[in-house]
Amino acid sequence: DASMAPSDFTGQVALVTGGGSGIGRATCFQLARDGARVVVTDINVQTARETLSLMPNPEKHLALQMDVTQQSAVQSVITTARDKYGEPPSLLVNAAGILITDPSVDKTGTDVINVNLKGIFLVTQAFTEELLRGNEGAQEEKGVIVNIASIIGKIGHPKNKHYAASKGGVIAYSKSCAAEMARKGIRVNCVLPGLVKTAMTKIFPEKLFQTMIDETPLGRCGKPEEIAEVIVFLLSRRSSFMVGACVEVSGGRDM
Ligand code: NAD
Repeated sequence: DASMAPSDFTGQVALVTGGGSGIGRATCFQLARDGARVVVTDINVQTARETLSLMPNPEKHLALQMDVTQQSAVQSVITTARDKYGEPPSLLVNAAGILITDPSVDKTGTDVINVNLKGIFLVTQAFTEELLRGNEGAQEEKGVIVNIASIIGKIGHPKNKHYAASKGGVIAYSKSCAAEMARKGIRVNCVLPGLVKTAMTKIFPEKLFQTMIDETPLGRCGKPEEIAEVIVFLLSRRSSFMVGACVEVSGGRDM
């Protein structure tokens, strides 16, 4: 379709979780670049505000505190966004996530599952409920969701099994939502990043970081912007026939 603009989100409201750092922040920048009104959310509101301050026309966007594990906080953010813009967000990027490398800190993996998996359940439910309210049947596209899993959710990792399990769950949840929601006008896809240099991975011991780079055919780690480009593509009409896809953006690190 030649009339299809590359990524034009003019008039659309995008909700990004984990928007205060790394991949979430890079996604906010690119969404703003492509015309969306962005609701930047993070458990750390200072960093969300910082993201906003680095965007052109910050008054067009919102920075709000939101802990993805707290249902009331999630609902209140969606209501605030709807009230400000007169419509609910129609684009959702679930980028909030944690990685706990010390197994003695979260022995049962509860924290990791709560944020990485339950958090996506809560935000997805609130987002879709609001978007579909009184408008369940129509065939046209009403919204798009992109979830951030990880290549680790597919191949596992000897030192991060709870994290791997949470991300495997994100993959299965994305595919399930994709199948459930396609006919309701919501497209769902998933991105599996490889090693990306962000606050999350900066804490890795240098040797572990180097090992992971050595395991990457491209021989380097990724930049948050390189993941964001694919997220924005999946949000856009350019990927209009993609549903339930799990797109690896890993420099080849999946073997
Ligand atoms: P990051 O630490 O830079 O950003 C994660 C953000 O999530 C932070 O701003 C943090 O405050 C926020 N957050 C944490 N708990 C939260 C909560 N309960 N509610 C709301 N926000 C919360 O890390 P990143 O690398 O940008 O990670 C983004 C996503 O990408 C995560 O889901 C991560 O698992 C995934 N990922 C990262 C890599 C990598 O190598 N960096 C690889 C694969 C997948």
